[in-house]
Amino acid sequence: MRRLRNVKIVATLGPASSTYETIRALFEAGADVFRLNMSHGTHEDIRARHEIIRKVEADTGRPIAILADLQGPKLRVGTFANDSEDLVEGAHFRLDLSEVPGDATRVQLPHPEIFAALETGSSLLVNDGKIRLKVETCGKDFAECVVTVGGTISNRKGVNVPDVLLPLAALSQKDRKDLDFACDLGIEWLALSFVQRPEDVIEARALANGRATIIAKIEKPAALKNYEAILAVADGIMVARGDLGVELPVTSVPPIQKRLVRLARAAAKPVIVATQMLESMIESPIPTRAEVSDVATAIYEGADAIMLSAESAAGKYPIEAVTTMNNTAISVESDPTYREVIEASRRTNRITVADGIVAAAREIAEAADIKAICCFSQTGTTVSLVARERPRVPIIALTPLTSTARRLCLTWGTTCVISEEQDRFKGAVIAAVRAARQTGIATEKDQIVLTAGVPFNVQGTTNILRVAPCDERLIYRAEPE
Ligand code: PGA
Ligand code: MN
Repeated sequence: MRRLRNVKIVATLGPASSTYETIRALFEAGADVFRLNMSHGTHEDIRARHEIIRKVEADTGRPIAILADLQGPKLRVGTFANDSEDLVEGAHFRLDLSEVPGDATRVQLPHPEIFAALETGSSLLVNDGKIRLKVETCGKDFAECVVTVGGTISNRKGVNVPDVLLPLAALSQKDRKDLDFACDLGIEWLALSFVQRPEDVIEARALANGRATIIAKIEKPAALKNYEAILAVADGIMVARGDLGVELPVTSVPPIQKRLVRLARAAAKPVIVATQMLESMIESPIPTRAEVSDVATAIYEGADAIMLSAESAAGKYPIEAVTTMNNTAISVESDPTYREVIEASRRTNRITVADGIVAAAREIAEAADIKAICCFSQTGTTVSLVARERPRVPIIALTPLTSTARRLCLTWGTTCVISEEQDRFKGAVIAAVRAARQTGIATEKDQIVLTAGVPFNVQGTTNILRVAPCDERLIYRAEPE
């Protein structure tokens, strides 16, 4: 069993997707990466979902990446006695510091610093800007507001205050606890919310201390200004369109998405396009035409991954949402225009030996009838370089490190296989052709190309490019030790 598309699917887990059956069905429908959102759910909920994902991984024998998403200094309301309330335009609504569950007249906003910064006339946007409140009076522990745009407000919905400068640290106390908790559980990717400066990423990396790699969520104007510096220190990027479209005019999001995706690909770092991709599928089994088109656009742009948020975490049709993404990807990727666009945006300057080898591997694979580019990798760096080429043939990443195989599940076009540690070239060739056959990508009659570094198991040594038959008898006869 393998995926018939290159773009990867990230599915957020939540109350609608917390059983073994659902998580397994999401994986089988096409989810490559599961996102655990630290803003919602208790540590026990997160631990239970983590355990189930690892069980699905063991039962299916295929690596799965887990992404833990830290809330960041995101402002959120508290909870409601009835879980949600409808706010109507013109009504009065109070925000305060009291932990008493909210109702139709008030709710907690557990951030004293926001009350200190608010002024009469400030606007507060709730739930991705769907609800708007205007401050009428405020003090150090409350704000009396009038609802200027109504809607449903529910537990822990996000609050943005676009016209007030808030003095917030990159990682809150809660984030630090969540980071340690998630890293100790064993996750591959840590997503950081509300990154503003490269230092924010550097700080998180130090706290993760080798236990996870870091995705910078780009959702603030400051992050856009510092994007290149942030990209240089991050391991991956998320185009977090929810908050981006609240902090900035929503019409500026499409060009921003294009720029972020293009530069991340040039840097050979995975980039996820996220939020509201199939929003209507929270309630409906059928997406809107516009949503399918949005998913398609991200794929045409060359994103590594597309993401489901509430659609899979809290919606009525999580499996259908993954299937919609999967089928959209298959449709887009078989369009000749997709290949044209992807190839026109390929980087052409080759700086290092590894750059040259991966480019040659792609050219050979595409010119001759070769079924896969197999890549031995310790850290996954070479695999990322192959993925940056966006080749027409599948990429098989072979690594002895479970953590590397899992992490690469986010990378475009890559099928990950855990392979025994190699110390002889012949053994490596045999492991590669077996992986190509076992994944169903090649048959005994086919050929593959292989990249590797000799000596084996030394980081950053990619120096071999080999074309090999998939028939092991031929390898035994022809291959030097
Ligand atoms: P969130 O991040 O869902 O954690 O807010 C994604 C976004 O803002 O788009
Ligand atoms: Mn966000």
